[in-house]
Amino acid sequence: MSNYDSIVIGAGFAGAVVARELAERGDEQVLVMDTRDHIGGNCYDYRDEYGITIHQYGPHIFHTNIERVYKYLSRFTEWYDYSHEVVAAVGDSEIPVPFNLNTLELVFGDEAPVLEKVLIEKFGEGARVPILELRQADDPRLKKIADYIYENIFLKYTMKQWGQTPEEIDPAVSGRVPIVLSRDNRYFQDTYQGMPRDGYTALFEKMLDHSGITVRLNRNAKDVLQFGISDETAHYSEGQSSGNNDSDERKSFIRYRGEPFNGKVIFTGAIDELFDLRFGRLPYRSLRFDFEHYDEKKYQSHGVVNYTVSEDFTRITEFKYLSGDWDADGTTVVREYPFAYTGAEGEIPYYSISNSANNALYEKYHALAERVGLTLLGRLAEYKYYNIDAIVDRALTVAGELIDR
Ligand code: UDP
Repeated sequence: MSNYDSIVIGAGFAGAVVARELAERGDEQVLVMDTRDHIGGNCYDYRDEYGITIHQYGPHIFHTNIERVYKYLSRFTEWYDYSHEVVAAVGDSEIPVPFNLNTLELVFGDEAPVLEKVLIEKFGEGARVPILELRQADDPRLKKIADYIYENIFLKYTMKQWGQTPEEIDPAVSGRVPIVLSRDNRYFQDTYQGMPRDGYTALFEKMLDHSGITVRLNRNAKDVLQFGISDETAHYSEGQSSGNNDSDERKSFIRYRGEPFNGKVIFTGAIDELFDLRFGRLPYRSLRFDFEHYDEKKYQSHGVVNYTVSEDFTRITEFKYLSGDWDADGTTVVREYPFAYTGAEGEIPYYSISNSANNALYEKYHALAERVGLTLLGRLAEYKYYNIDAIVDRALTVAGELIDR
């Protein structure tokens, strides 16, 4: 029998927070495993050879309005005071994104005061208006603004990122970057924002540094865990999901290294791959990251520049802005090239593609995981577009429920 009370698969935010909670508040022995050779999931960062902290899996910027999340993470890190600002490169100019009243002035010049008045009369000062909602407006002046924003900020970027138009994707996705009726150029308006002062990896090291937590890297859960549904007579019937509806008589089982495991198993990875794609592959968008180092103090005007009307990449991130490594020699940037995830060796699923067909497929995996007794958590396991703060919040809630159970 194993000595562990719980097994957590995946050492990103979902897994690390749950592990810490189970170990600390639940007084459990927790095994955390990850297939990668590092902790931190996609938030993993490190100092490159030039002394600049870079994010191997693309820029991760922390922001939240959830006080308990900010307080919780503050136990494991101090913060570098960074307010993220983004501009879109449109022709020869750079305009603030989200599109706000400053952007309106830059784009519409003398006409801006009248347009601002119309916008505020319709939606109210400080409003946050999704582009798809603005496009519904009847007033020709609002239509004109909406057309500009749609054409110059959303259409091409979304086509690159998702391979679909803004109308075709989940409205919640384009709604993440609304039109903001204020002069605040920050990308996020949250109360708390900043970057872990010594990086995300250091934050994870502290979070996982607990006597009740054992971390095993380079370990695929499928090599040490077996789970499935069996009936009393069959020895091992993982894979039998069809047939008569006799689920009441069949029992779920989990084995760790061949032995029955009666503790909790929290899975944060790709659920379709865990179940050998038995219902088919869940679609994801992936990214290729092209890192580049330049012999210049500074490469661009802001931490992130979005290429919303040109180029094959979506955006360029210059890491110095995010980490404050301004004394380093030269500067390191990354360009992001989206593509459809195929599951090929080395590809990484980053974004679930929420639509009714995909969500229905996910539900099949979810139902199976429930029968087996797995707890699913995180972007991959829940097939959900979580921000850092949202998954930390969710992980705290789930851990609480597991401890109370
Ligand atoms: N988006 C866009 N143009 C932009 C910024 C965002 O069209 O300049 C759309 C695009 O569809 C994107 C979505 O808004 O996928 C959400 O953007 P966000 O910056 O939140 O994406 P993330 O940083 O999570 O990749």
